[in-house]
Amino acid sequence: MSGQVIFESEEHKVILFEELTPSSAVQANQYLIIHKGEGVLLDPGGHKVFSLLQSDIAKFLPPKKIKYVFLSHQDPDIVASLNGWLLITDAEAYISKLWLRFLPHFGLERHVEERVRPIEDKGTHIDLNGCELVILPAHFLHSPGNFQVYDPCSKILFSGDLGASLNQPYTVVENFEEHLKYMEGFHKRYMASNKVMKLWANMVRQLDIEIIAPQHGAIFKGKDMVNKFIEWAENLECGVDLMNENIYSIP
Ligand code: FE
Repeated sequence: MSGQVIFESEEHKVILFEELTPSSAVQANQYLIIHKGEGVLLDPGGHKVFSLLQSDIAKFLPPKKIKYVFLSHQDPDIVASLNGWLLITDAEAYISKLWLRFLPHFGLERHVEERVRPIEDKGTHIDLNGCELVILPAHFLHSPGNFQVYDPCSKILFSGDLGASLNQPYTVVENFEEHLKYMEGFHKRYMASNKVMKLWANMVRQLDIEIIAPQHGAIFKGKDMVNKFIEWAENLECGVDLMNENIYSIP
């Protein structure tokens, strides 16, 4: 069984599932937030993750108690299992309005489509049984219609692909400098530009964050580690900053 509790109080719990991805697929984290007996599932993943996650979640919460499914963006490792989740729950799903009409291509059935809610560019709030989750804009980090979730009850920022690391042999970052090699290549290629990194850093510095929890790889725990990550991201040249004539030349 999988599922690590990364935050727990009397009314509130956050669980990380990090080992359900098949070995040939890029590792992906799924998160479940539970507040007073109701849940939000974040970035549920692909088809192969679905059946495993379904039974592992049941150990923490009956799947019927999942009220919302949040999709940070449109990638298959996030969205592909959505139809399954909407069939076994009465949940509403949230995704950027940019991707709404792309979802039926993932096999979304007609009768569950009406439970998908488009998020406007400026973001929104989701009320989980009294805990107000903040849906923050994070466009172009990396997807053009991209959101992150700040949970004020656990002080965790769920950062989607931002902060992702690949093939690191641990779940919690211990040494930030050592960790860079697992995330540098991904961020330089997938994140759109330093301009949006800076905008993001300015926005999230206004929040009280204890953990940054990305959709791939290890989590950043504690204010010191969180600040180190924000500072690194803020100063990273990436995406279009690194494009030049050598790359844009006819092969
Ligand atoms: Fe992605």
